[in-house]
Amino acid sequence: MLVVRKTSKSTVSRLARHTPATALQVGRWQRSTRGLATPSGQYDAVVIGGGPGGYVAAIKAAQLGLKTACIEKRGTLGGTCLNVGCIPSKAMLNNSHIYHQTLHDIKKRGIDVEGVKLNLQQMLKAKEDSVNGLTKGIEILFKQNKVDYIKGTASFVSPKIISVQLNDGGESTVEAKNVIIATGSEVAPFPGGAIEIDEQQIVSSTGALSLQKVPEKMVVIGGGIIGLEMGSVWSRLGAEVTVVEFLNSIGGAGIDEEISKQFQKSLTKQGLKFKLSTKVLSAEKKDGKVVVTTEAAKDGKQDSLEADVVLVAVGRRPYIQGLGLENVGVEVDSRGRIVIDDQFNTSVPNIKCIGDVTFGPMLAHKAEEEGIAAVEYIHSGHGHVNYGTIPSVVYTHPEVAWVGKTEQELKTDGVKYKVGRFPFLANSRAKTNLDTEGQVKFLVEAETDRILGVHIIGPNAGEMIAEGVLALEYGASAEDIARTTHAHPTLSEAFREAALQVSSGHAIHF
Ligand code: FAD
Ligand code: NAD
Repeated sequence: MLVVRKTSKSTVSRLARHTPATALQVGRWQRSTRGLATPSGQYDAVVIGGGPGGYVAAIKAAQLGLKTACIEKRGTLGGTCLNVGCIPSKAMLNNSHIYHQTLHDIKKRGIDVEGVKLNLQQMLKAKEDSVNGLTKGIEILFKQNKVDYIKGTASFVSPKIISVQLNDGGESTVEAKNVIIATGSEVAPFPGGAIEIDEQQIVSSTGALSLQKVPEKMVVIGGGIIGLEMGSVWSRLGAEVTVVEFLNSIGGAGIDEEISKQFQKSLTKQGLKFKLSTKVLSAEKKDGKVVVTTEAAKDGKQDSLEADVVLVAVGRRPYIQGLGLENVGVEVDSRGRIVIDDQFNTSVPNIKCIGDVTFGPMLAHKAEEEGIAAVEYIHSGHGHVNYGTIPSVVYTHPEVAWVGKTEQELKTDGVKYKVGRFPFLANSRAKTNLDTEGQVKFLVEAETDRILGVHIIGPNAGEMIAEGVLALEYGASAEDIARTTHAHPTLSEAFREAALQVSSGHAIHF
């Protein structure tokens, strides 16, 4: 039977030490005027963290008839993704693209505009409006699905008892048969503390989403997805952006090398500068500017760059602070990730874990899939995530999207493969839209024609990749795609033509 009763900190620790969960007295909660639900009885499932992994798991659990609560400390649902990640960054990418197009692209389309001006405050407000609308939407979904939303910070007392430091003040405890940890990730600090983020002049992605002024010069440390997306935003709004990347290519883990090169060319054409094979050593504030010291990978030669704003985008790390994992013995690896087996079980039998805080790519849709599968394991003993078909999308312009194997992986694995391509330059819709940069690239098994990977750089790549994901899920051959009717005139015809090119040796329009 439940929990949820208000208790003092000392009561919680006393309970932990001496009281088996089933012996707990049940306290009833009044519905708080500040939106706290009124749980009554032990929960079948308690989810810690209301990000895409956690909130989706909670909704799914409730839909499967499990009595469910979700504990979230942020004050809003949606986690990193909706509050300071996917959604605000896509709002800024979309609106900065429209601004940039209006300045540089629409004249040739027969639209003359004068006096185009950036209203950054309004652009930031539009971003906030999207975030607010979507995070509140999840609260509504929780109500519709009867998920109890507990606003506070969760900490394990024992495997089945969780203490919650309520955002509104006070503390309570929650009892659960099953717990799913979905506490996500946080910005990785710069190694060795050589750069201190102040979110004003030296910013993480969070600060970069809310700059109050377009910087004249911006240095981006890290040419992964965050660096390229946020670098694009501020470059389009007028900043001179230099991306410094340790590796000799951009786009982060999993991008096909050929696509990465094409991507870099495209961003360079837009005005971004790149210093590859270059490591940032430090960044120091000096006379109102930031001086970034770099070191070339080849010969160790040091150099410096001056910037008004520096974005540190060198990755994210799992977030487990304050969870009390040590109280229950949940195992964590050397990189701070919670260790799980292939059914999302941690080292403690009734505690599962999903999303950024455990293994795998840090992507919202991966966290969501895991949330659903973990709940299905609890409910029926079966669940599934196909890690070979998780797509990646970089929401720049052109967009870059991929699923499955890259050429470099196939070479390393010794797989015999064929490549099929189709450029958007030969696609009627792309030509009509005057938006022809990029290509669709298929990688298929030489002997069987089975699709092993799809890589797209071009307009709407992020939407088009869904067809590649489906093809991989169903074990499709390139010929299957080539023989599937695609509407004319659409960008998706480029997808079909690339499949046709690899399966038959010839595309029709190229
Ligand atoms: P999170 O979203 O991090 O949510 C975890 C939640 O748990 C947080 O709200 C936190 O407050 C809460 N929490 C933590 N500890 C406790 C506790 N003890 N008690 C209660 N609550 C707690 N991914 C994409 O797929 N597409 C994108 O376009 C994309 N863009 C991104 C852009 C940026 C700038 C960033 C930073 C990330 C982006 N990501 C994107 C990654 C994506 O945001 C994450 O992969 C995703 O949010 C992970 O979901 P999660 O549920 O595992 O964790
Ligand atoms: P990342 O790991 O993808 O890229 C960080 C880059 O920084 C790497 O290429 C690394 O070589 C470089 N780097 C590290 N230290 C450096 C140094 N000292 N000097 C120069 N370069 C250095 O991390 P990220 O871009 O911060 O993204 C974090 C996570 O967020 C990723 O897992 C990503 O998948 C996720 N994300 C996804 C999306 C999306 O799906 N569209 C958008 C944003 C973020």
